[in-house]
Amino acid sequence: MPLEIVKYGDPILRTKGKQVSKITPEIEQLVTDMLETMRENAGVGLAAQQVGKAIQLTVIDTRQTDRPSTLEIDGKAVEPASMMPLVLINPVVNEAEGEQIGPEGCLSFPEITAEIRRADRVRVEATNLKGERFRFHCTGLLSRAAQHEVDHLNGILFIDRMDSATKAGLSGRLKRLQKETKKNLKRR
Ligand code: ZN
Repeated sequence: MPLEIVKYGDPILRTKGKQVSKITPEIEQLVTDMLETMRENAGVGLAAQQVGKAIQLTVIDTRQTDRPSTLEIDGKAVEPASMMPLVLINPVVNEAEGEQIGPEGCLSFPEITAEIRRADRVRVEATNLKGERFRFHCTGLLSRAAQHEVDHLNGILFIDRMDSATKAGLSGRLKRLQKETKKNLKRR
């Protein structure tokens, strides 16, 4: 079942996610629903906070776009598409190297995109749905998506990564979105 996406202005987006200690049937169902929600909205990634759950869980699927990515496991190149969709439980991003600047959007910020500076290459470590810890290195869009999603799990949003001029240019739209979200929250 597709879920409603939480928009900017909802405090849950600023809440750090709790560790997932056990992969329960509820977690499995949430993953299924998050994958459906991501696909329905043509998103590249979706964090649990964006569907109202502050836990360390995110899904990524870079097949939605043709922007390039690379992926390596134990130093060996792997076709990124063969790993999609990625389910990352309790993920950690580290070993950041290099830099990429490119357009980025977020399903919690409809119609807002901006150039965001990110590391080019990162190492991602996470648990899969079988409860196994796995690791990979990635670059390009996949690396960008992993950094964006792991930020979400820590309550960090892409507007925090914008340079100040870009953020200032968007401030009117951001304020309107925030106001509208708060109004909708009160109505519930
Ligand atoms: Zn996002």
